[in-house]
Amino acid sequence: MGPRVTACIRPRREVDWFSLGSIIFLLLCRTFIVYYFIMACDQYSCALTGPVVDIATGRARLSDIWAKTPPITRKAAQLYTLWVTFQVLLYTSLPDFCHKFLPGYVGGIQEGAVTPAGVVNKYQINGLQAWLLTHLLWFANAHLLSWFSPTIIFDNWIPLLWCANILGYAVSTFAMVKGYFFPTSARDCKFTGNFFYNYMMGVEFNPRIGKWFDFKLFFNGRPGIVAWTLINLSFAAKQRELHGHVTNAMVLVNVLQAIYVIDFFWNETWYLKTIDICHDHFGWYLGWGDCVWLPYLYTLQGLYLVYHPVQLSTPHAVGVLLLGLVGYYIFRVANHQKDLFRRTDGRCLIWGKKPKVIECSYTSADGQRHHSKLLVSGFWGVARHFNYVGDLMGSLAYCLACGGGHLLPYFYIIYMAILLTHRCLRDEHRCASKYGRDWERYTAAVPYRLLPGIF
Ligand code: NDP
Repeated sequence: MGPRVTACIRPRREVDWFSLGSIIFLLLCRTFIVYYFIMACDQYSCALTGPVVDIATGRARLSDIWAKTPPITRKAAQLYTLWVTFQVLLYTSLPDFCHKFLPGYVGGIQEGAVTPAGVVNKYQINGLQAWLLTHLLWFANAHLLSWFSPTIIFDNWIPLLWCANILGYAVSTFAMVKGYFFPTSARDCKFTGNFFYNYMMGVEFNPRIGKWFDFKLFFNGRPGIVAWTLINLSFAAKQRELHGHVTNAMVLVNVLQAIYVIDFFWNETWYLKTIDICHDHFGWYLGWGDCVWLPYLYTLQGLYLVYHPVQLSTPHAVGVLLLGLVGYYIFRVANHQKDLFRRTDGRCLIWGKKPKVIECSYTSADGQRHHSKLLVSGFWGVARHFNYVGDLMGSLAYCLACGGGHLLPYFYIIYMAILLTHRCLRDEHRCASKYGRDWERYTAAVPYRLLPGIF
């Protein structure tokens, strides 16, 4: 842990007009986009053009649509509070025991990457345990205890959306105030002269309460990602209740997304070395995004299938499954190759051979000179971000599982393509300024970003 300090050092950075415009646009639009999608499912059976056509032709007014939207309820507020409290307790009060009996799983206390100010944080990695216990309870309830209906999440979906928004805005606002007045590590704070930018992109790098409650690790993983698979299960239960059976499309979406979620928790230690934790500050983008955007928009396929119980032909279902599994394989192996390479400082085998390496160096904010290595073998020699390609193939598979009836379930692949392309450009810009000439040597050795010969 880095030293705790009571006031932030405030080097100011300027924000260009384009970034500022995009940020204000996103702040205004993202909340509306989530509402629009969920409302379109609730009132127009997931037809995205439905509300617009109704308003344009005078069949409905905005106020009619709003009046039909379920408000926040006491039940949803209680459920949500219970949910978040339960996840906080699992995160803070139950040290990891999975690493003691699961071979190959790395949990317990682990170190994160070196922050720009040279701090190395310690984390209690117990996400897999939280996921397992939560799902054990869910299945115990569904098959033995019957405390609540498995459709409970679907049945309260819009009232819960308001609760998630309250938490998302509250945590982002708190993080901003905390960054100004009582930061965890002042040397890792980032200030611009613009309020909106600070609010959206965050001031503090790794805000914490006490020694262990790390905002990024908690909000990124739980409650959103633990909830992801429960939300899908609730959608499947609702499909069965409404249509008498669970379709193969719903099974595919549940299985493929569960693989992605379990992978995330199995590799939570690896996650400490990804861009979210290593480079992004904690503001509205991460805080609200984790509470609202992720659980509501990453689960659109399951929601859609409640309204449209698509049953795929066998070749279609097999095609989707294969695409999802191959995508997952590339995603996992590419990420594993980089992780192994970095952990062993290049003393490993990639695709059975000693890896090709570019030695590089950089200077951190405290003026210290550091050495690092870039991998030029395996998937990192195919393209500079081939791990994103695997992710995109998996994302496309979820969408294709929903057939071709509506645009709404395809939002995910459109969003992921934009997110990961932007992320790739942002990361390359950062790496270019971090490594300078050494990065140029890497781009000369591996000329394409995502798809060889194309981009
Ligand atoms: P990466 O795992 O690709 O990490 C990029 C960083 O890795 C760079 O900043 C650099 O960091 C280092 N690096 C780059 N090239 C090399 C190389 N050749 N050899 C060694 N190190 C290198 O990015 P992300 O953290 O964005 O993604 C991790 C995974 O998470 C991806 O598979 C992505 O698809 C997924 N993801 C999923 C999202 C979702 O919403 N579903 C959102 C975001 C990501 P350094 O400074 O250490 O050199």
